Amino acid sequence: VLSCAGVRKRFGSTEVLAGFDLDVAEHEVVVLIGASGSGKSTLLRCVNLLEDVDDGTIHLDGEHITDPRINPDRVRQRIGLVFQSYNLFPHLSVLDNVTLAPRRVHRVVRAQAEERAMAWLSRVGLADKAREYPDRLSGGQQQRVAIVRALVNSPRLLLLDEVTSALDPELVGEVLTMVRDLKSDGMTMLLATHEMGFAKQVADRVCFLSEGRILEQGTPAEVLGDPQQPRTRQFLQRII
Ligand code: ATP
Ligand code: MG
Repeated sequence: VLSCAGVRKRFGSTEVLAGFDLDVAEHEVVVLIGASGSGKSTLLRCVNLLEDVDDGTIHLDGEHITDPRINPDRVRQRIGLVFQSYNLFPHLSVLDNVTLAPRRVHRVVRAQAEERAMAWLSRVGLADKAREYPDRLSGGQQQRVAIVRALVNSPRLLLLDEVTSALDPELVGEVLTMVRDLKSDGMTMLLATHEMGFAKQVADRVCFLSEGRILEQGTPAEVLGDPQQPRTRQFLQRII
């Protein structure tokens, strides 16, 4: 589904991505871990074309999306992105938050968009909140709405950046469960997290980032349970 090759990105004098290579297969869930500042968010933003890459290429379903001639809006319709802060519009109901993108970007008829949105909200147990405003929902519910908003376009790939880190511990579980359900539906996902428990539960593959590249990757058991690289060991020791 996704293929990053030799991706470079620098901010000022720091090279955040230094020739980054990563392929994500259909239905695969890849989790990026690494120290703060190791480039996890930058990579996700490059994939969603929120940042231009300095060098290298990114392909989505075989299409070269870092080609300057590409229309970024058309690419973003095929990629869902959810951040740590769920960024719901406070003045819009849950349903309007979720259907905003399909109505504006795809111009599908409102009824059709709402039908799809309601189907997703029901699936995640939030149908009764459709007419509520975001401030009436818990953090976990808001984050699930943000994920639903990313799903209504039927994306080929879902990018999740620290989607549980703004949540109270007791609310993390409901978001985790939703991500696990998406995984069992076969959704292809690339996510960044500081929570190794999350990585362990959902990842097919864990990638440890260091100095703008993947230093070590493998199954959660391999990377988290038996890291080979001293830097990976150091990182894991520090956070546990
Ligand atoms: P965290 O775990 O804290 O979320 P991260 O792995 O997601 O970290 P990034 O947010 O990708 O790391 O940041 C990587 C580096 O790039 C950091 O040193 C950061 O300061 C820098 N950086 C990111 N975005 C910008 C920007 N727009 N302008 C300048 N520097 C930036
Ligand atoms: Mg980040």
